[in-house]
Amino acid sequence: MQHFNQAEIRQIEDRYQDFLKVIKSKFDEERLARIEKAFRFANAAHDGIKRRSGEPYIIHPIAVARIVAKDLGLGATSICASILHDVVEDTEYSVSDIENMFGPRVARIVDGLTKLSGDFDSRQVLTLKKILMTLSDDVRVILIKIADRLHNMQTLDSMPVNKKIKIAGETLYLYVPLAHRLGLYAIKSELEELSFKHKHPEEYKKTLYMLHNQEEKRNYLVNEFIRPIQEKLETEQIDSIVSHRLKSTWSIWQKMQKKGVTFNEIYDILAVRIVIKAKPGISEKRQCFDVLSLVTDIYKPRPDRIRDWITMPKANGYESLHVTVMGPQGKWVEVQIRTERMDEVAEHGFAAHYRYKDISTFENELETWMERIREHLRSPDSDAFEFLDDFKLNLYATEINLFTPKGDMVSLPQGSTVIDFAYDIHTDLGNKCIGAKINFRLVPINHPLENGDQIEILTSEKQIPKMEWLKFATTAKSRSKIKDAFKLEKKKHLDKGREIVEEAMKAAKAPITSNNLKKLIAHFNLNNKEQLYSEAGMGFLKLNNIDEILGKKSPNKLVKYWNITFNRKKKEEPALQEEEVLSNPKRLDKGKPFLLKEAQDEITYSLAKCCNPIPGDQVIGYLSTDDHIIIHKTGCREVEKFLSSHGNKIITAEWTRFKKQSYLTRLRLEGFDRMGIVNEVTNVISKQHSINMRSVKFDTHEGIFNGDMFLYIHNAEDLHSLISRLEKIKGIDLVTRDENLND
Ligand code: MN
Repeated sequence: MQHFNQAEIRQIEDRYQDFLKVIKSKFDEERLARIEKAFRFANAAHDGIKRRSGEPYIIHPIAVARIVAKDLGLGATSICASILHDVVEDTEYSVSDIENMFGPRVARIVDGLTKLSGDFDSRQVLTLKKILMTLSDDVRVILIKIADRLHNMQTLDSMPVNKKIKIAGETLYLYVPLAHRLGLYAIKSELEELSFKHKHPEEYKKTLYMLHNQEEKRNYLVNEFIRPIQEKLETEQIDSIVSHRLKSTWSIWQKMQKKGVTFNEIYDILAVRIVIKAKPGISEKRQCFDVLSLVTDIYKPRPDRIRDWITMPKANGYESLHVTVMGPQGKWVEVQIRTERMDEVAEHGFAAHYRYKDISTFENELETWMERIREHLRSPDSDAFEFLDDFKLNLYATEINLFTPKGDMVSLPQGSTVIDFAYDIHTDLGNKCIGAKINFRLVPINHPLENGDQIEILTSEKQIPKMEWLKFATTAKSRSKIKDAFKLEKKKHLDKGREIVEEAMKAAKAPITSNNLKKLIAHFNLNNKEQLYSEAGMGFLKLNNIDEILGKKSPNKLVKYWNITFNRKKKEEPALQEEEVLSNPKRLDKGKPFLLKEAQDEITYSLAKCCNPIPGDQVIGYLSTDDHIIIHKTGCREVEKFLSSHGNKIITAEWTRFKKQSYLTRLRLEGFDRMGIVNEVTNVISKQHSINMRSVKFDTHEGIFNGDMFLYIHNAEDLHSLISRLEKIKGIDLVTRDENLND
């Protein structure tokens, strides 16, 4: 093995001393000695090994330990584990070596981190499941894992392009929601920014440029806005710091993509924050509300935009008071008011609670969340990706608080429905649920719940769980309970169906042979025995002429054919023009973007049906075979899955100039109905923008207007200009592109 040279040894020592400077004041001699020991050991273990950037490998664990200490505020055990986190994975040493030298606590964390290393293919998802199960007593594994990922993202530059895209995609798919759930806002936005930068470099640069471009104008607005507030705070002798924040480039871009708006149309780019040094003896909440009234004395608040996260903190511990007020130059500005303690929690999330020794209040919240995760993990459902999706659903969710008729509080993710509430209380209540009474009003089973609702579940003995409940069951718990119940129900039908079929055959004096069963299966156009039994069990099959059926030598082919066409309704393939051929005879070079052209050969591509991209959209290619590529929109959920499991098959793709060919695109409209609105909408589309419509559907319900339109669009630019024109129509509130072309 090649040892490091003098220069490299000096570089390592420098980095380590820098790191020590950051943490030294926080730890006693004994802890510093443990950290020193971990460093010396890891340094020797990684001797001679380099990162792709050419730096000695040990620089990476030191950097991770620094994030863990500084940004997460974790203690000596976590710091040691961070320094040692790649030793078992990358060197000869085992977990028991670590345990002998550093004790069981450090060893257990390193073990967890080792199991989580590498890429997230589906096996890794199972490992993640395992880790989450044992996580209840050690969130530190996930926290260090996030720090590890953050440093990898910070040093992504030396990776090849396709690796960058894969890692950035995985970060957005998994680590960002995790960081969000743990309340690590600063890290979350850094991860988002870095992912954005590497996944969409051009867009990132453009957004950053636009943000800088307006700096001067914005600074002027900020100063003009803040000055009166600061003066008032001073006269009232409230010790506080007023600062301002910009929306991140990532969230600006996300909003532009989602709503099809331009940079200038985003009004909440700016937020002002007032952090109060709380006076002892007066409640922090009171002090925040005092400042709120001081601000609203100066600026008019938007009545529907006051958010009180102090009375009811978010599930991840976030506390703050938000108000949107009308600032100078007629611009809405969000003002966030909080104390220093709340600010610390907001920036560092979960870890801050450790620092403030305020663990008990938070542990309850975390425990509820972990319980939900564990519940989910217990379910036998083995589809790893489905698990991840449901899991992510719960990671992002904001909690709402609901009450039982007796006044007990139940917390569920925002967007939960009646059925979720029922299953959360008891499985039987869910299985028999037919609806609910909320604040004395009868509501259906799919009714979305709102914060503060008091809910009485209504049941019926006749009710059985239905597969379509999955359309509106949102919590992991209710979803898995419904699936379980359905499996049970299916088993019942199967058993009953087997009896029915066998009885009928006996009655017809036909032997129960596999040959006879095959004849039945063929007669009813089914696929297998299981289907035969379950259909019979549900009473779908007529078995009274079974002797006739079995007597036939072979079933009438023609009849069978027609049955098939009627029974198995195939999804209509949208008549899209695809399968274009590449003119470039060169084989694919993964390091360069694949160019989408109109005439091509050798390497063909098609447009994915899940997200239906059109020229000009940000796209990415999935290499399905050596000479065929499927083009997805970059934000497409399907592609996010591929990034985590088949990252090596992802290639970058770019549109070249396209002729005037058009693509079926779906737009949805929402707004308040008024006379003539339909006319105006169709006018804008066909006359002003000369766009052909395939179908247009308008609906009005209680004054709310809904439109669903299928249009032939040339490219993304045309689409965006149409959207912003439609949004200007009086009464139209929201125009969105729907990537799903199936009804
Ligand atoms: Mn690492």
